[in-house]
Amino acid sequence: MDYCKQFRVTPGSKVDLSQIDAGYKDGQKSRATASTEIKAYQKKMQELQYLMYAEGKRSLLICLQGGDAAGKDGTIKHVLGAMNPQGCRVTGFKVPSHTEAAHDFLWRYHRATPERGQVAIFNRSHYEDVLVVRVHNLVPEAVWSKRYEHINHFEKLLHDNNTHILKFYLHIDAEEQLKRFKKRIDDPKRHWKISDSDYAERPLWHEYTQAFEAALSKCSTEHAPWFIIPSNHKWFRNLAISHIVAETLESLNMQFPEPTVDINEIKQKYHEMVEEEKEEEENSK
Ligand code: AMP
Ligand code: MG
Repeated sequence: MDYCKQFRVTPGSKVDLSQIDAGYKDGQKSRATASTEIKAYQKKMQELQYLMYAEGKRSLLICLQGGDAAGKDGTIKHVLGAMNPQGCRVTGFKVPSHTEAAHDFLWRYHRATPERGQVAIFNRSHYEDVLVVRVHNLVPEAVWSKRYEHINHFEKLLHDNNTHILKFYLHIDAEEQLKRFKKRIDDPKRHWKISDSDYAERPLWHEYTQAFEAALSKCSTEHAPWFIIPSNHKWFRNLAISHIVAETLESLNMQFPEPTVDINEIKQKYHEMVEEEKEEEENSK
């Protein structure tokens, strides 16, 4: 199955998340078979990231969105962790600082976009400004409602500057979220992750769903598509995302740059001649 096609939100379509099964795991697949596939995609990702770095012409921006416990951290650790840290930067976005809030909403995101040859991963992203902000009325509707257009223009600007954008919405259902919260309670090593607000947000599930549906519907474009990833099964989520990232990088058809030196000349001058000299030295002993 081509997950790039299957989970991509067609530009202009209207998303209804209640129609999308968060527990989907693609028929014959299992955790064990997925594990082998994920490793292969990660290897491909590594090779292509190296090529992107070498080519130095374009960049990749991966945005991860989803409710609390949807698996954003897990995706970074288990899938995107395969990337070479030298060419990859992760930025997490929390409640804006005083300085961030004193600028236009895109300012802090723009600063974290990848330079040519690099990969940037956003753990939460500019979409928070039409999600949590919309649900909690942190700014008036007249302000947030214009942001979809601002976001589309921002992403087009990045695309025109050779930044390829992939946006993943990690889709879990309310039951799965509660199960994951319970697991955190049962594991002292994860207690630090628990916050009151996680539970306080649950009665707003419907409002969040509406806000996600609006963002997914209005902001999936040819140049910056959204993918809705069924994420109740963590292994399936990892399989789908590793597949999409690896296939997207491959489709860019990147090329190693031409060498800036004459390789044969260098070989002759610094390798073969040295070898010859060594040989002569050996013979004269
Ligand atoms: P966590 O991802 O669990 O560390 O939580 C980060 C928190 O920051 C979440 O509750 C987000 O909703 C919140 N947050 C992120 N971006 C914004 C924003 N632009 N405005 C308000 N809250 C935000
Ligand atoms: Mg949280």
